[in-house]
Amino acid sequence: MKTCNNCLLDEKYPQISFNDNDICSLCYSDKKFKPIGEDQLLNIFQSARNKNAQYDALVPLSGGKDSTYILHLAVNVYKLNILAMTYDNGLFSQLALDNIDRAIKITGVKHIFCKPDFEIQKMVYQNMLKYTGDICGACDIATKANVLKVAKDYSTPIILYGTSPLENDSFVPDSIQDISRFKHIMSLSNNLTKKQINDFLIFPKLNLFLQSLYKKTGKFSKEVRPLFFIENPSDKEMGEIIKKELGWQDEPDKEYSKHLDCIAEPLTNYLRNNIYGYERRKCQYSNMIRSNEITREKAINLFNADKVDEKPSNYTEVLKHLELTEKDIEEALSYKPLLYEKNTSKINRLYIYVIKKIRNANK
Ligand SMILES: [Zn+2]
Repeated sequence: MKTCNNCLLDEKYPQISFNDNDICSLCYSDKKFKPIGEDQLLNIFQSARNKNAQYDALVPLSGGKDSTYILHLAVNVYKLNILAMTYDNGLFSQLALDNIDRAIKITGVKHIFCKPDFEIQKMVYQNMLKYTGDICGACDIATKANVLKVAKDYSTPIILYGTSPLENDSFVPDSIQDISRFKHIMSLSNNLTKKQINDFLIFPKLNLFLQSLYKKTGKFSKEVRPLFFIENPSDKEMGEIIKKELGWQDEPDKEYSKHLDCIAEPLTNYLRNNIYGYERRKCQYSNMIRSNEITREKAINLFNADKVDEKPSNYTEVLKHLELTEKDIEEALSYKPLLYEKNTSKINRLYIYVIKKIRNANK
């Protein structure tokens, strides 16, 4: 098996290729991150202010590093009038909840905690895990829907996401948000009614085309990822800034914590590693090598310490929390990737195809 000489990715990563020096396609085609420009970000903020809405922007807050940093930027640096919100995905760590609490108290911003029907949420996770080995897709869909709903309810002109360049390419294809695929998976076990599924989805007919159309026409708020506009501090510096400014706390004994907000994250990495041969951390450490934040040796050490090939230390606790059995996990581990590719929305597939064509034509 070929492994890249520069990053940690190997042949199992989808559509990867290697050159004669065994450098992977993600590394050799890597263009150094170039921020879009702060002036453009300032323009977006100014037009948001000009709308004179109750709040200039909505910040979805998970208590993790990136979203807390965005709250700091929005309130302390850009002086925006912020509404913060959190969708309770039922998997929050105490550390994340405490981080949210402190950040809200210190900034004094209004914060909304969206609580779903937890019984239905649990059944959704169970179905997702039993039939696909993934739960992140369901959490992503529900989080996004709740964010859009709050933004709509409060007419906030923009939504500020904490997505950072370091997260690029760390998804797995199965967890791309797709409502048709989601509905198909839910239909496999008849434990939820159509209405329950639609209520969980909030916007049950939303596809990528409609999302894009609604954003263009102003029916949905504009989504902005500020970390793509400006030069960012390193991952470590970012942590230091929010520790000082918003009382943020990191996982103890971890040099680079990732996704400390979710108690199921280590389980999802374990499953993804088994099913796909790669998972979120391998991709993130590879991004950190490419952005010169850490050396390859350092990345290997960090990755080995994460032990994604072993059951995580909170394995039993998480299974109990989700009311899943060892047998469910064994079943999930037997699945092949892209099991429900045929059940994804035709409109989404067409939309992605067209967007890719346009992007390639512009290169
Ligand atoms: Zn590489």
